[in-house]
Amino acid sequence: MAINIKNIAEKEVTCSTCQACCCRLEVILFTDTGVPDAHIAVDEWGGETMLRLDDGWCSALDRETLLCSIYENRPWACREFEMGSYDCRIEREIPFVSVC
Ligand code: SF4
Ligand code: SF4
Repeated sequence: MAINIKNIAEKEVTCSTCQACCCRLEVILFTDTGVPDAHIAVDEWGGETMLRLDDGWCSALDRETLLCSIYENRPWACREFEMGSYDCRIEREIPFVSVC
């Protein structure tokens, strides 16, 4: 018996249709890329992360455009986070960010 196989196109993963899901992650600052102090949170041990606001997003995210407002100076971790990667897809599937 012949089995019909359908190729179902996987939903395209692109930042342009995403609600900046990865900009809700904790971003640890390992290197100095020139992030302005106003966007840096320092813990009691001196560890630095990107500051997140009450809505959960990084404070450097432009809420109107959902683009990074400090793109040229974004942290190393943000530079390494690949669109369409496993981590990216996981973030987009988390119910809390299901609008993605
Ligand atoms: S989670 Fe993925 S698709 Fe969404 S903004 Fe980040 S890299 Fe882009
Ligand atoms: S620095 Fe920019 S790319 Fe990195 S989490 Fe913040 S808004 Fe997103």
